[in-house]
Amino acid sequence: MKLKRTVKIISVITAAIFVFAMFTGCKKNEQDERSVYNITAEYSDADKTVTARCEIDYVNRTEVELSEVWFHLYPAAYRNGARYTPVNAAEIDGAYPSGISYGGIEITGVEGGEYEIGGLDEDVLIVKLPASIMPTQRVKIAVDYKLTLPNMRHRFGYYNGNVNLGNWFPIECVYSGGFVADPYYSSGDPFNLPVCDYAVSITAPASYTVAMPAASVRTENGDSATTSCTLNNARDFAAVLGAFKSVSGSVKGVDVTYYYVSDDNAEAHLKAACDSIAYFSDAFGAYPYKTYAVVQTPFNQGGMEYTGLVYVSDSAQGDMITEVIVHETAHQWWYGIVGNDQVREAWLDEALAEYSTSLFYKNHADYGVEYSARIADAMGGFSLFCELSRTEDTSMNRSIGEYASAAEYTYMTYVKGQLMYDSLLGMLGEKTLTAGLRRYASEYAYATATADGLIACLEKASNRDLKSFMSSFITGTAKLYSIS
Ligand SMILES: [Zn+2]
Repeated sequence: MKLKRTVKIISVITAAIFVFAMFTGCKKNEQDERSVYNITAEYSDADKTVTARCEIDYVNRTEVELSEVWFHLYPAAYRNGARYTPVNAAEIDGAYPSGISYGGIEITGVEGGEYEIGGLDEDVLIVKLPASIMPTQRVKIAVDYKLTLPNMRHRFGYYNGNVNLGNWFPIECVYSGGFVADPYYSSGDPFNLPVCDYAVSITAPASYTVAMPAASVRTENGDSATTSCTLNNARDFAAVLGAFKSVSGSVKGVDVTYYYVSDDNAEAHLKAACDSIAYFSDAFGAYPYKTYAVVQTPFNQGGMEYTGLVYVSDSAQGDMITEVIVHETAHQWWYGIVGNDQVREAWLDEALAEYSTSLFYKNHADYGVEYSARIADAMGGFSLFCELSRTEDTSMNRSIGEYASAAEYTYMTYVKGQLMYDSLLGMLGEKTLTAGLRRYASEYAYATATADGLIACLEKASNRDLKSFMSSFITGTAKLYSIS
């Protein structure tokens, strides 16, 4: 996600950081076996609901026998009475311009086992299997459900003629000694998902275009139309409905489309999407999907990433639109191809998305954004935040639920994370650091990376000991600034 910044700039002085390290090797988590989701959904414009069926060919990717399977029900966070709400108090006005509105998910039937609703906030579907499944064994589960969309500018909801379908279907919880079922934290992107294969059909009034993350087929049925696509090896599946205009291009064999409602510079923003797909493909490894959709839509932050499709907020203006596009495109590598636990190690993808954005500008002088200015901005903002907030804990390895505020989360993960990469750039040089990141993208493609895995990949590429250096940033022992 691309967040809005809240603190302005002051000058800063960097401090030296000492380096001691140990070498650890890269490890790849094999996830060749993937669950397959077949979702059929119908949107009703009259009552702002989606009636859907999600058929899951679920594979046991764990190393243990499973007698039950857990699925996140993220739309439950949007209901009246949720303990974990999708936006915090400071963001309510921006997220709900028309007043508070609630939505939710109702499970109307499950095939493949008995079920119950559980989790910390009635946000997990637990399916009790009639017979246990062993590792690599598959089981078929079907979930019928009805979504009620809130009237809001968020990942999930409708506003001003658009319908955002993000995190809108039951999706399996990862397993790490038990199913991991974090609630919907309002800070950050509270997701931790495995890659799956998707076949999705959405029926909606024919006046809507359905932006999808893969090449789609649209079939008219009188007043309605059904749009369908398949997307394999994807971290998630999102779609946006709207009365869009669009511009399209092609780069490195990828069909790129920018869907927008109002944008006088649509061609320039399509170019930013194409340029960033091309640049990151060269730097970190080829973009592996056939299409990429950038969708301008109501959203209370700058943008939001999903595999093959990203949101750009309709409130973003001027150069910010380009910055959001580059940031969200970088997430196709950091979050999408290389997954991470976005609850416990949010910095892994956000710091890299920010640094990758700066690296894009560094290598595209025609965009008129100085790399050094972005780093100075980050350093100034970080030090000012620390001074004003009097925060003593600058660690980046906290769960997103443990930061004192959304601002603290932003400055520790996005801003300080980018500063760590800038320091690495100074130590290793761009060629070596990029080679390390390319190695990280390759080693952890379609898997879930960790900080240790990242560090090991950078160490291998640079033949340097980096663990103590990076740990000083991650744990907060490094002093990055002094106030004169
Ligand atoms: Zn982001």
